[in-house]
Amino acid sequence: MSITARFGPYGGRYVPETVIPALDELAAAYGRLRADPGFQSQLDELLKNFVGRPTPLYFAERLTAKLGGPRVYLKREDLCHTGAHKINNTVGQLLLAVEMNKSRVIAETGAGQHGVATATAAALFGIPCAIYMGEKDIDRQELNVVRMKLLGAEVIPVSSGSRTLKDAMNDAIRDWVTNVENTYYVIGSVAGPAPYPAIVRELQSVIGREALAQIQEAEGRLPTELIACVGGGSNAMGLFVSFLDKEEIRLTGVEAGGEGLDSGRHGASIERGKRGVLHGSLSYVLQDAYGQIMEAHSISAGLDYPGVGPEHSFLHDEGRVRYDSVTDAEALKAFTMLSETEGIIPALESAHAIAYLAKHIDRFAADDLIIVNLSGRGDKDVYQAARALELL
Ligand SMILES: *Cc1c(COP(=O)(O)O)cnc(C)c1O
Repeated sequence: MSITARFGPYGGRYVPETVIPALDELAAAYGRLRADPGFQSQLDELLKNFVGRPTPLYFAERLTAKLGGPRVYLKREDLCHTGAHKINNTVGQLLLAVEMNKSRVIAETGAGQHGVATATAAALFGIPCAIYMGEKDIDRQELNVVRMKLLGAEVIPVSSGSRTLKDAMNDAIRDWVTNVENTYYVIGSVAGPAPYPAIVRELQSVIGREALAQIQEAEGRLPTELIACVGGGSNAMGLFVSFLDKEEIRLTGVEAGGEGLDSGRHGASIERGKRGVLHGSLSYVLQDAYGQIMEAHSISAGLDYPGVGPEHSFLHDEGRVRYDSVTDAEALKAFTMLSETEGIIPALESAHAIAYLAKHIDRFAADDLIIVNLSGRGDKDVYQAARALELL
């Protein structure tokens, strides 16, 4: 089976020639394994017993009453092992690395969440793991650095450039180019050169497959709209993919509006980016007049990414998915609201999706049926929130 290489004009492989054979090898291995019942049953078993799937589709009764609009369900990815959807992808890719006889995995991380998810899966398979992380991010994200070290990973500080995610990406690719024979590169979202966006989408598609069955079981009908936050876009793509062909269902991706789109401090790559190359693929990218990558900003570390997966750029241009953004302040308000009304402290990333719903509640009808992807839990964000809300 072929793995999508382009989404309209987007995607592709903008990488050094030396890694093209490795991408071909990956595409061939994945093409073979996704059709292999043995691989699928191993993956299913890990998702069930290690990750904790299926995650519930939870009817948020008090939130529904408080908003006074449509019926709202939450897809509870916050209940996955390690507290977010990222583990669905890393467990799958580590299984792939094992099948491909790779003896080492690498990844880059910004806030550390993909680093932790990769280190967790690497520990599960007993494979050495190196995580590239900007020095500035290492200082800001101490907890995740400690978690990665406890999980046995080597955290490699990156001191070049702005000492953040994009510099860590460059170093990880450089490592891969040098050690491509024995090293598997774990990409954390529906980004990167082909075939990564298609592989990560498929590994995350379990979210939407479960949600589709669960909503029909609970309500006997399809939802009217799905809402998910978009950083690189993997939790959104994972939820949307089972619903893409059902044209009547509205799909909404919510980017990080940061301090406002005109402040220049945001992560709204689709709304404010231009076509460009980041992380080995063509997509909408936040860039300056020279095409240099700009730093993204968001109160939520996971949405702090200056690009977006290429398929989202395509779905935007096609008009199949609508993209909007909410600000840091709006996300923070939704963070407290969900905590108080449902007893669920969401990740600040996921709070963006809740905030979109609350902000535009007048656009929804009472018989609308909404699924919001609760991509992660908020434990990691409590200090950030406490500072912003002046609780400490
Ligand atoms: C990393 C992260 C995101 C953003 O990544 P996507 O690829 O856009 O899903 C969203 N929510 C949580 C909880 C995350 O950890």
